[in-house]
Amino acid sequence: MNIRILIVQGHRNTTGGNPAEMAITPLAARAIQRELIAAGHQAEMLQNEADWFPGTLDDVGREVVRRFDVQPYDLMLDVHFEGDANNTPGVFAIVPDGDGLRTVSPYRGSDAWATNTLDQQYAVAIAEEVATSTGLGLRRSGVKQPGVMSERQTGVGSKGYRLAMFGYTAAVRHRMVRLVLELGNIRGDAAIIGADGFYKRAAAGVVAGIDRVLGGKSLSVRSRVLSRQ
Ligand SMILES: [Zn+2]
Repeated sequence: MNIRILIVQGHRNTTGGNPAEMAITPLAARAIQRELIAAGHQAEMLQNEADWFPGTLDDVGREVVRRFDVQPYDLMLDVHFEGDANNTPGVFAIVPDGDGLRTVSPYRGSDAWATNTLDQQYAVAIAEEVATSTGLGLRRSGVKQPGVMSERQTGVGSKGYRLAMFGYTAAVRHRMVRLVLELGNIRGDAAIIGADGFYKRAAAGVVAGIDRVLGGKSLSVRSRVLSRQ
């Protein structure tokens, strides 16, 4: 089984962010796109060929929904690297958990942790498989379980606000799993991230995580070739 994925490059828009993070995010996002396509999935990139989206973060959120309305996605993967003040190491995925948090894009239904069960499954599987494929640890502090963080545990959520990417995309949560993936800490995991082949290994972990949720039924390019022989 193959799914349709929209990859978003964190901070690669006019709202911006940490320059060190912004510099390497395209390498991870493009590697993930290549590996997903090689595994037979449909993987689109929100940013243009220059790895840039010419609008604000709010515009990014609206653009995800606009594209979903043209042709739905099964998964949105918002790719980041962590850069917290404590240099906390480890890979983790953030799951929507927004009920009661303030947002400019309120959602009528519930977008609570307990309602986002498939998002949780993808978060666990992708974080664990990326840890295995890269040698990154699973983040263990400020998380629900190793490698899985609630939106409320983020710097934004703990101040009482929704992550914009989750606020805007709540409107399509009935179909689309939404994750923010933090592929290690820029400083705390610098040696691992800087090693040759890191991005390809991280991408292979993402594919393996998705395959785990789908029950290992993803049809790889290799098995397609073999089945034609
Ligand atoms: Zn970020």
